[in-house]
Amino acid sequence: MKSLKDKLKNHTEDIVLENMEEMLTSEEFAGVCTCEKCLLDIASYALNRLPAKYIVSHSGNVHTKIAEFEQQYRVDIIKVLTQGIKIVSKNPRH
Ligand SMILES: [Zn+2]
Repeated sequence: MKSLKDKLKNHTEDIVLENMEEMLTSEEFAGVCTCEKCLLDIASYALNRLPAKYIVSHSGNVHTKIAEFEQQYRVDIIKVLTQGIKIVSKNPRH
């Protein structure tokens, strides 16, 4: 079963990390700590509240499916990330 595990990937992780990076470079979140601890707290906050997206592709159309998913959930992803950033930056664990 290990080989199956290696092939399963939650694409929500990629999308959340990409959006988080983009948001944290914007002026709105200029004062937010971006150390590894805070980034992991923000990412896990968001990932625990967003649906996981596993895509197994046999025809190479993974990117289309991920793009569709991202478009569908973009508003939720931004909303949850904004909450996470606010909560973590108010109470950093350091
Ligand atoms: Zn920090």
